[in-house]
Amino acid sequence: MNPSGPTQPSDEHDPSRHNLDPHLDRYAARTAGMTASEIRALFAVASRPEVVSLAGGMPNLTALPLESLAAQMSDLIREEGLTGLQYGSAQGVPTLREQICEIMALEGISAHPDDVVVTVGSQMGLDMVTRLFCDPGDVVLAEGPSYVGAIGSFTAYQAEIEHVAMDDDGLVPENLREALARTEREGKRVKFLYTIPNFHNPAGVTLAVNRRSEILEICRQHGVLVIEDNPYGLLDFNGNIYPALRASDPDNVIYLGSFSKTFASGLRVGWVLAPHAVREKLVLAAESATLCPPTLNQLVVSRYLSSHDWMGQIKTFRENYRERRDAILGALEQHMPPGCSWTHPSGGFYVWLTVPEGVDAKAMLPRAVTARVAYASGTGFYANAEGSSQMRLSYCYPTPERLREGVRRLAGVLESEIEL
Ligand code: PMP
Repeated sequence: MNPSGPTQPSDEHDPSRHNLDPHLDRYAARTAGMTASEIRALFAVASRPEVVSLAGGMPNLTALPLESLAAQMSDLIREEGLTGLQYGSAQGVPTLREQICEIMALEGISAHPDDVVVTVGSQMGLDMVTRLFCDPGDVVLAEGPSYVGAIGSFTAYQAEIEHVAMDDDGLVPENLREALARTEREGKRVKFLYTIPNFHNPAGVTLAVNRRSEILEICRQHGVLVIEDNPYGLLDFNGNIYPALRASDPDNVIYLGSFSKTFASGLRVGWVLAPHAVREKLVLAAESATLCPPTLNQLVVSRYLSSHDWMGQIKTFRENYRERRDAILGALEQHMPPGCSWTHPSGGFYVWLTVPEGVDAKAMLPRAVTARVAYASGTGFYANAEGSSQMRLSYCYPTPERLREGVRRLAGVLESEIEL
C-alpha cells in the first residue's frame, strides 16, 4: 500500500506545470492572439450595482413594447411554429431579406434580396468576411481606435491590423493614403479597409459626407475592399440618415447591418450585403458556420417590422439616447479637470475621452472602480500599444442621473491622478 495515497503523475510530465490549461500544446497556432478583451475582463466588477458603469455598450431596451411582443410571439408559434422551429435557408428567411433591402434603401442602397445573407448578429458577418478574405499575415486597415470585436475577429484569422488615425470628422483620407503607401512599400498585402462610418464605436465621431467618395476612390485605386460596419446608422439624434458607402460603390463595398441597436440585441439577427460576386462564397461560409441563422428569431424580427411602427420605436430609442448624451456631455463640461478633451457624438452610444498627459487611463482603472465608476480603457480598442491616454465612456445604458454621478466620480479620480 502506498502510504501517501494514489500515485501522483511526475511533475516533469505535467503540462499544467507551466500553465493551468492541460491542452496548451494542442491549440492551433491561430489561437495565440486570442485573449479575453479588457472589456470582458472588467464586466464582473463593473456590473456591481454600486458601480456606475460607463464601460459596457449594452443597448437600453426599456422602451420596447414587451406586452405586444409577447402576444406577437405566441401568435407566431401558433401560426408559423412548424416553420419557425425548423431549419431554414442558409441565406436567411426571404421575406426578412426583402425587408432588409427596404431598410438599406433609407441609406441610398439599392440591393437585391439575393445579395443579402442573414447572420447571427453583425459579429458573425465580421467573422465570415475575415474568414473569406484573410490569410495569416494579410493586412487589414482599421480606424484607430476600432471596434474591439472586429479586432478580435481579425486577430483570430492572424491578420495584421494597421490603424488609420481619425479626427473629429472620422477617417482622414490622407492618413489612409499614407497607410496604404507604407504597407505597399513593406511588401504586405492589404485585403480590406474596415470602417464604422456613423457614430463610431468607440470614437463617437461620424465620417464627413464629403470624405466618403474620396475614401472609396482611394480604396478602388489600391484594389482594396471596403467593409462598412453600420449598426448605429439609424440612431442620429436629429433623425439624419447618412448615405452609405455601399450606395456609391456596390462592387467594392461589403455592408454589415444589425437589428441589435434598433430592435433587440438578444435575438442576434444581423446581415451582410455582399457584392453579387462574393455572395455565393459568403453563403457557403455561413452554412459551414451555423447551417442557417435561427429561423424563429428571423420570423420575430420580420413580423415586428411589418406589424409595429418600427421607425416610431427607433425615434423613441433615439430620444432616450439623446437625453443620455446630453447628460454625459453636460457633466463632462461641468466636472472634468483641465487637460481633458472628448468627442461630441451626434448619434450612437459613445464618447471618447482623452486624459491629460502623464495620466495612464489603463493603470487608473482599478482606482476608478474603487471610486465606484468604470470605463473601457482605450488600449482595448487598438491592436498595438496605443490608447493608454484614452477611454471610452458609454452613455447608452445608465439613467441620466447615474451618468452625471459617474462622471463626477471619474473627474474626482482624474484629479487625484493629476496630483500624484
Ligand atoms: N460592429 C460594431 C461597431 C458594434 O459596436 C457591434 C456591437 N457592439 C457589432 C458590430 C456587433 O453587433 P451585433 O453582433 O450585436 O450585431
